[in-house]
Amino acid sequence: MKIDDQPIPELPTRIMHGLGVSPGIALGIAYVHETGGLSVIEYCIPEARIAQEVARFREAVAHVAADLRKIQEDVRRLPGQSAEEVAVILEAHVLMLKRSRLVRGVETLIAEKSINAEAAVKHQIDDLMETFAAMEDGYLAGRADDVRDLGQRLVRRLGHGEGTPFADLPRQSIVLADELTPADTAQMDPARVVAFATELGGIASHTAIMARSLGIPAVVGVSGLTHNLCAGCTVIVDGTAGRVILNPTSEQLADYRKWRAAALRRFRSLNRLRALPAVTRDGLRATLLANIERPEETSAAVLAGAEGIGLFRSEFLYMNRDDVPTADEQYGILRNVVERMDGLPVTFRTLDVGGDKLSRLFDLAAGPNPAMGLRAVRLSLARPELLRAQFEAAFRAARHGPVRVLLPMVASPDELRQCRVHYAETFAALSRARVALPDEPPPLGVMIEVPGAALNADAIAKEADFLSIGTNDLTQYTLAIDRSDEQVSHLYDSMHPAVLRLIHFTTEAGRRARVPVSVCGEVAGDPHYTGLLLGMGIKELSMAPGNLLFVKAQVRQMEAAAAHALVQAVLRQSEGTEIRALVAAFNGEDA
Ligand code: PEP
Ligand code: MG
Repeated sequence: MKIDDQPIPELPTRIMHGLGVSPGIALGIAYVHETGGLSVIEYCIPEARIAQEVARFREAVAHVAADLRKIQEDVRRLPGQSAEEVAVILEAHVLMLKRSRLVRGVETLIAEKSINAEAAVKHQIDDLMETFAAMEDGYLAGRADDVRDLGQRLVRRLGHGEGTPFADLPRQSIVLADELTPADTAQMDPARVVAFATELGGIASHTAIMARSLGIPAVVGVSGLTHNLCAGCTVIVDGTAGRVILNPTSEQLADYRKWRAAALRRFRSLNRLRALPAVTRDGLRATLLANIERPEETSAAVLAGAEGIGLFRSEFLYMNRDDVPTADEQYGILRNVVERMDGLPVTFRTLDVGGDKLSRLFDLAAGPNPAMGLRAVRLSLARPELLRAQFEAAFRAARHGPVRVLLPMVASPDELRQCRVHYAETFAALSRARVALPDEPPPLGVMIEVPGAALNADAIAKEADFLSIGTNDLTQYTLAIDRSDEQVSHLYDSMHPAVLRLIHFTTEAGRRARVPVSVCGEVAGDPHYTGLLLGMGIKELSMAPGNLLFVKAQVRQMEAAAAHALVQAVLRQSEGTEIRALVAAFNGEDA
């Protein structure tokens, strides 16, 4: 069935706005993703899917009952009287799951109000809690807590029920959620998801970066998105304009078709650039590489004509699993990427978990400020076995093609020095064990993404084989703006004079130390910044594969000499607005 043929007539059209974080427009079917957290999204279920929804609830009930039995057994093994008491409470929970008022009530609500199971559980629990809390008997009034507890278990199970989330995604899905984590996004099958939109999330969050890598439109920070949703309704997500339309009108659908035809024409014309070099009109040659999160994205990098992988975010190998990937496993994955890049360089960044990228393998959200806590290279140095396993994978893969290793969130030369010790020792140990290795360890580079590292770039450049500027975190930490918080997204600005000065300073430090400097933050893939970056002397840019041809088109239409003059003028400014005006004039746009 064509999507356009199945609007749900009784639903009103709703237009909502947010931050467009990945361009393009998509039309699809709403798939509401519950996070399994305590805030529940209520949405309507089409008549035909009610039985399926009730079955989903029953499955969750069975799972929770099994979970409770398991906990009961564990508790019984504990010594003491209190274990006995806890077991009794758990037994009460199990009983509440058997054809009780709770279970029957939820099933009736799903059927009669045509709502999702999570919302029905929430209504029923609220109702029961009110009844219990109003009881005069103190013991019974206390049971309200049990009811809430059970409700939470049910909602969590519904969120993360069987297998992996998104396992049941229909084709052409548009995922709508309160929030999506990078780990969630990593589980979406790009063949089934055409776009997503969320209530929370900022412009440079990793979730947004994932959308750009998958090449699907996305809008984040859409206030009110998850109110009055209907699973299965038609949705348009316009990631360019930052707009979400639920149940679009026939005129809006016609506009969408026009846009799609124009986009196809633009894509065809850009595709002609694929085999051409990224060279300015006055002969400056730039190298455009691809950023990838998942090994599967290598195909998109090849298709876009990337001249290598400038950033392979290895932390995604650690997500959605309960064991740490071994050196052997990482070697296999990296070798495959290296072989598919067929002689072009692959930059393997060591584990960069923390901030908005969390893996259940590490309890990184525990500290007072995870964005500034034990994360990235700090975690790797605290747990050198992790670092050594990644170095081993990179060394072995480097026998199959050029590999570079990149360290994230380095703040001082001392951290690089400590990593170098592990680098050399791992190489020596593998040589002694007669593991097949290249003659030399691969180049070891440093990401410049902490403002202190940028200001100390001269010292770092003396000891690094290359520098790669991570403008996403550099902007976040320079301006103290959380890159994933939609409330302050309007202040997140990589054209802020302070950020540009740090990029310029780093580039100059690289030039003085004769060390190559590239940019792998999101600005590298934004054609508005291409003149600024090339004008500063940065010749290597690494970006989401989908942006590569747009940036190439920009490089090929500019003059390096004019870009250099632009930078001189920009560096004299102290206001972002003035800088934007200069850059817009350079790009031939209205400011
Ligand atoms: C950056 O911070 O600019 C960067 C490239 O790394 P990530 O986005 O993975 O933090
Ligand atoms: Mg970073």
